[in-house]
Amino acid sequence: MKKLLLPLLCSLALTCRAEGLPDLGDVSQEMISPQQERQIGEQSMFQIRADKSYLDDAEIADYLNQLGDLLVANSGEPSQPFEFFAINDNAVNAFAMPGGFIGVNTGLMLLAQNESELASVLGHEIAHVTQHHLARMVAGQKYDSLAAMAAIAVAIIAARNNPQAATAAIYGAQGGAMQRQLNFTRTHELEADRIGLSTLERSGFDTRAMPAFFERMQRATRLLEGNTPSYLRTHPVTAERIADVGNRVQQLPFHLVPDSLNFQLVRAKLIATLKTPAEAIAFFTSAMGEQKFGNPIANRYGLAIALLRNKQEKLAAQEFITLQNQASTNAMITTLAGKIKRLDPQEKNIAGFYRSATRNFPQHRALVYDYAEVLLQDRRFEDALKLLNEQVLTHGNDAHLYELQAKTFAALGRTQEEHHALAYNSILHGNLRSAIEQLELAKQSGNDYYELSTIESELKQFKEIAAAQRKKN
Ligand SMILES: [Zn+2]
Repeated sequence: MKKLLLPLLCSLALTCRAEGLPDLGDVSQEMISPQQERQIGEQSMFQIRADKSYLDDAEIADYLNQLGDLLVANSGEPSQPFEFFAINDNAVNAFAMPGGFIGVNTGLMLLAQNESELASVLGHEIAHVTQHHLARMVAGQKYDSLAAMAAIAVAIIAARNNPQAATAAIYGAQGGAMQRQLNFTRTHELEADRIGLSTLERSGFDTRAMPAFFERMQRATRLLEGNTPSYLRTHPVTAERIADVGNRVQQLPFHLVPDSLNFQLVRAKLIATLKTPAEAIAFFTSAMGEQKFGNPIANRYGLAIALLRNKQEKLAAQEFITLQNQASTNAMITTLAGKIKRLDPQEKNIAGFYRSATRNFPQHRALVYDYAEVLLQDRRFEDALKLLNEQVLTHGNDAHLYELQAKTFAALGRTQEEHHALAYNSILHGNLRSAIEQLELAKQSGNDYYELSTIESELKQFKEIAAAQRKKN
């Protein structure tokens, strides 16, 4: 197996050292390098991926990354790496971690009435990252900037679920001075709006969506904000911001921009999977019925998913018939077509369907997962392994691919590689202890020299990280 995770693991270890051992952190350091920001962000992502609110859905994540990457390409730093992810949370919020990791709550995705509105919030968050606002916030303070930055990352994560925990994290790490620092300043907010607006325009979206969405967000959050400490409202939407953006938009040319089909499908999938199946069926039935609202393709797509969840396979297949002709041009609809085919006992050539579907949409991970499962069911283990190995090269941080790889190795009796893949799966879910256990098992169960040397060096790194964490706690 390839040492795919090593760059990521090295940065994890470096961050731990910087936090844990004062001789390696420069306490007088005034500026944090983009590399250090990235390392702190990567480490924070282990905690975020382990959190139960992390929405582990490859199609939603792929959509957010396509939209985000389009905006990044038109931002001030088109070559900076970014990762966008969804958080299953009704609160209307989005947040930027150090180093280009941007989380978007499902509540915000559902509040957005069109794609330009969602893009306007992503543009704002991207601007916080490209302007290095978090780094500027901690730079030039009396305390160690690097530790302060790490503390901010911890606090952003803690604040998502529990305001008290956030306060404790900040006080524990840096004292009261940090609390005032955590909230983006008014200047940073206005700057992120202006730069985000220009990114939005250059990416070809409707710029009027930004002030319109800010107003809707303000209405949606007004009731909740009364008792919230100011630092938790990481991007407070103020009348000043709405007016400032509104004035700028008036001077820009106007484009009417249709939503992509994927924007509509993602919203429908969120509704179909987050509500109960019965609620979702009622929602889409009413949307397609007399009170027609929304996009008809997306409504039918959502209804078919809700029916599948409700174990009404035949009805789902009937609803899907009208979507069939969209399948050749849309990966999400193709993925649903495959799920429906797999439940049909008459269907004879499912592997053939997935072979051509993954050729048509080679980057669509949800299709790859399903194709691998079909190959495993057909006991075509070598074909499954070839498919998964290729995918791991481009999606080295995808925990589910390692889980499928481990299943395949298990079926082939390749125990050492099975445990090695399970270790990667565990570490990507933020479970260090289980990763160490799997590496120990891998070490005991094989004698491939190259594999063994990789396992031993990773085991050493993981144990160092575990020791640094014990010291901190
Ligand atoms: Zn902001």
